[in-house]
Amino acid sequence: MQITEIYKSLQGESTYTGLPCVFVRLTGCNLRCSWCDTEYSFYGGKRMTPEQVLAEIEGLSSRGGLVEITGGEPMLQERDLVPLMQRLLDLGYKVLLETSGERPLERVPVGVVKIVDVKCPGSEEGDTFYVENLEILTSRDEVKFVIADRFDYEFARDFTIMHDLAVRVNAVLFSPAFSKEAAGARDASNCLLDPQELAEWMLQDNVPARLSLQIHKLIWDPAMKGV
Ligand code: SF4
Repeated sequence: MQITEIYKSLQGESTYTGLPCVFVRLTGCNLRCSWCDTEYSFYGGKRMTPEQVLAEIEGLSSRGGLVEITGGEPMLQERDLVPLMQRLLDLGYKVLLETSGERPLERVPVGVVKIVDVKCPGSEEGDTFYVENLEILTSRDEVKFVIADRFDYEFARDFTIMHDLAVRVNAVLFSPAFSKEAAGARDASNCLLDPQELAEWMLQDNVPARLSLQIHKLIWDPAMKGV
């Protein structure tokens, strides 16, 4: 497997926010989102066997802990990743998979929590979501929209309602996009969309979603890697 980094931090997003978590960042992505904050994962990385990845996870967290598989786009390494995720589940880990949902998700093991980042138009990768994946989502899973402006918000709101997402999944997350040049200030000034504005829109429309802030960017310098 091609791995950019493995590290332990606090989970910064989703309904697992705030929990200790081991992150396994796989190298490579087939998308190029305009606000991507992990461009360093597009290339390079280190070649590791699934056994080596597993050993590193076990060195950072005892069984029963939380592990997030992220990228890049992890499903590009589906052949090795699927058995690794099953192994982690068998060992008692709680496994989260962060994916754009551009690749089919039908082979993801039952028990893995899929956190699917449906791309809004402002990402410049809109229309990449593989719509058939909606049928694969379960009440364990979460759907996230990273929102840069009003146009993105309306897309996320309409998509949520049209596909009845709040009924299909555990949580629908609306998250203000962060500037990829963000550094220094650990506050909302680095958001491309003011969280207050997003919160007000959500309240006005009574949208069945939860506001999600990337807390790791409020705890540490937003430019810091490995947190
Ligand atoms: S899918 Fe994720 S890793 Fe890939 S470009 Fe978009 S934000 Fe970056």
